[in-house]
Amino acid sequence: MKKNHKYIFVVGGVMSGVGKGIATSSIGKILQARGFTVNPVKIDPYLNVDAGTMNPTEHGEAFVLESGLECDQDMGNYERFLGVDLRDEDYITSGMVYKSVIDRERNLGYKGKCVEAIPHIREEIIDRIDKAAQRNGSNVSIIEIGGTIGDYQNIMFIEAARVLKMQKPNDVLFVMMSYLPIPNKLGEMKSKPTQNAIRLLNSYGVQPDIIIARSEKPLDKKRKEKIAVSCSVRADHVISAPDIESIYDVPVNFEKDNLGEIILDLLGSKNKKKSTDLKDWKKFVSKSKKALGGKKEVHIAVVGKYFDTGDFVLSDAYISIIEALKFSSYEVGVKPVLHWLSSKEFDKGGAKLKKLSKYDGILIPGGFGETGIEGKLNVIQYAREKKIPYFGICYGMQLAVIEYARSVLKMKDANTAEINLNAKHTVIDIMPDQKEKLKNKDYGATMRLGSYPAKLKKGTIARKAYGEEKISERHRHRYEVNPEYVEQLSSGDLTFSGTSPNGKLMEIIELPSKIHPFFLAVQFHPEFQARPLAPHPLFTEFIKASAKGKK
Ligand code: GLN
Repeated sequence: MKKNHKYIFVVGGVMSGVGKGIATSSIGKILQARGFTVNPVKIDPYLNVDAGTMNPTEHGEAFVLESGLECDQDMGNYERFLGVDLRDEDYITSGMVYKSVIDRERNLGYKGKCVEAIPHIREEIIDRIDKAAQRNGSNVSIIEIGGTIGDYQNIMFIEAARVLKMQKPNDVLFVMMSYLPIPNKLGEMKSKPTQNAIRLLNSYGVQPDIIIARSEKPLDKKRKEKIAVSCSVRADHVISAPDIESIYDVPVNFEKDNLGEIILDLLGSKNKKKSTDLKDWKKFVSKSKKALGGKKEVHIAVVGKYFDTGDFVLSDAYISIIEALKFSSYEVGVKPVLHWLSSKEFDKGGAKLKKLSKYDGILIPGGFGETGIEGKLNVIQYAREKKIPYFGICYGMQLAVIEYARSVLKMKDANTAEINLNAKHTVIDIMPDQKEKLKNKDYGATMRLGSYPAKLKKGTIARKAYGEEKISERHRHRYEVNPEYVEQLSSGDLTFSGTSPNGKLMEIIELPSKIHPFFLAVQFHPEFQARPLAPHPLFTEFIKASAKGKK
């Protein structure tokens, strides 16, 4: 195991969805602000090897790392809060754990032993946590165990954490993220569910050191003392985490309850700094509040398809895009108001499209398959012709190319091979190395994934926005602009302002600003690199253009 390394496990009690990922990110932030290098790790107890094969309505956005690993959206929260690029080792699923144990067994790696969940799965988990710590060069790992105490699925991970604590008693901390409801009829904050959750955690042999108590309102002294007595946790180690307006305020709030100091005391960390340096962070938070409290709004329509599925929360499927829009809006000093429009509603075009005229900007995010495609094409045509700022991402770029080919270059049935293989003009085609993969149903982690460099053409909007010629962005796609059509597509106003360094793969399209206020679309996913302290230049240009043409 790595020497002098500290481990903080964050587990959930009572219920999910109360912000365990944000708490983990915020703990990281306050330790980072005290001069530590931190290594956040997300554990997802599902059997999928990664998040890439899951429908966003099931699981939310698949966040893509630089390496191309498709993982949980919490990894995006960690990157945004901490301003770091995470690596493969920082993400662990039951699928990965079991797969490597089973593969090792098939290779006689266990030398004839009976392979069992305990100890072998447990050992594999500890190994992976250690590998993340080793590779990162950090002082502290903050490991978020997905799900809630009592879930059958995450027991092995809690078991691994328990054993790690036995091996390194002074270096391992447990933080329990709990929830205290205030039932309407009672009007009183109830601590019983938290007490029960902690008893359950105790039954696994784990005692939490710190409890983060989420609730609508701040916890009072009485409640803290009650939890302390019944759960054997010091009252000042019960951290109040009331609902607040912005998740980016959470680190600052935690520090109000002294969380940083408490953690460092518990871990007996020698190199602790007494003060926190959250200066830049606080500056960002106050900039965001100013924009949100101001009068200038910018109304952005996001047109997509993963919108209408029961209880499913939108913000989960598009979280990185939403955050990227926010960061750039705060930078520009406007309040972003997002409107979610289902593309299906525009399939027939016509009068329905008029509805779009009231928005200051339109964004079409990434997507897959056939549903609502004609609707999206109609929306793009409207945005192009009516000169509403348009920002297309991945599928949103491919469709913009199709729309341009159909309407401007008169290739009536232009299409993508994803939808119609037999179209006369497949202006968007499958990438050559992808064909074989699809034929063999080899879907997992096989798209063109992760960071690739691109070069930008002089004098274009893209080049001006980035302020440099060479960029690197994260990708997730199987199709591309068909190289055979590039010449024809660029015969008019449309410019390919970004390409792969060898010029073969088209990365960015745009229309010149003299004919459209902002019409730009990208093959990659810029949202994955947008950070609170470093908004993405293309999102910022889009917001600027939208704010300028405000209705
Ligand atoms: N479906 C398209 C492709 O695979 C776009 C993917 C995306 O938008 N992420 O190329």
